[in-house]
Amino acid sequence: MRFSDEWMIPVAPGQAVDWGWAPSGGAPKAVTWHWTATADLARCDALIGGASAERQGRASAHYGIGRSFEEGIHRYVSLANRSWHAGKNQTLRWDGRPMESEDDKGARTCIGVETVNVGFARDEFPADRDWISAASVDGRRRMLVQPWTEEQVELMIAVGWEIIGRWPHLGPRDHHGHHDLCPGYKLDVAGFPFARVLRGIYQDESIPDVWSGVWTPRGRRAALRQLRYGPLPPVDVDVWTRLDDLALRRFQADQDHQPDGLWTTAVSWKVWEAQGGNISLPPDSSSHPLDDRA
Ligand SMILES: [Zn+2]
Repeated sequence: MRFSDEWMIPVAPGQAVDWGWAPSGGAPKAVTWHWTATADLARCDALIGGASAERQGRASAHYGIGRSFEEGIHRYVSLANRSWHAGKNQTLRWDGRPMESEDDKGARTCIGVETVNVGFARDEFPADRDWISAASVDGRRRMLVQPWTEEQVELMIAVGWEIIGRWPHLGPRDHHGHHDLCPGYKLDVAGFPFARVLRGIYQDESIPDVWSGVWTPRGRRAALRQLRYGPLPPVDVDVWTRLDDLALRRFQADQDHQPDGLWTTAVSWKVWEAQGGNISLPPDSSSHPLDDRA
């Protein structure tokens, strides 16, 4: 049995769950993907699952997805209700636009899905050869991210099917990461395999990969250069510079997007559109993650 309800959080005062979707009779607007920053699902359960979690009344999510079929999927909150997975230090909405009110908070607008992944490499979790080279949404933070497993991708697709079974209005463009809502505060889910997961959920191989080519400064710069934005630093400089920032802001302004210098999922989609729906980026540094540690 892949899905377990053993860790459902009761909808009760003092718990990080709210009845329904606002306004009354409403529906979620999008899906927010997270990494747990834990090594396993049991730790995620202890933090947010069940009636007496460590973060009881402070944080939750709709699902926790393990790294293997054996760990499986734990439901924490029903899709009929809201979970408290994003909102703190949030500046952008589900669509990449600035927040206008408290009602735009992720916890009030989006389904939250936690995926077990330690996140970026650090002392207790050193990177392996296959870790993914990625940058934060603001481009300033470089990291090597633990890859999601093959079994986990299948589990994520199964969760996606449950989500769109309940809320069929949610399409491929209604998925983003926690970092898209809280840039500068959250780094999850840099490096996430959005294309594979969404192609599986929607059973549509034509869904473009607007993400993996622009996880790094080098990839983002190549995309801007292809769109004739410049001047830009040489391609091999894999840090995000002032020139890159200015070029991105000009691109955003031309696209009627706020020029905030943040490379969110919404911006990745705009880049894809500006390229005529036809991304042909050069191979990115992510295929050689260890180069970035030199
Ligand atoms: Zn998160």
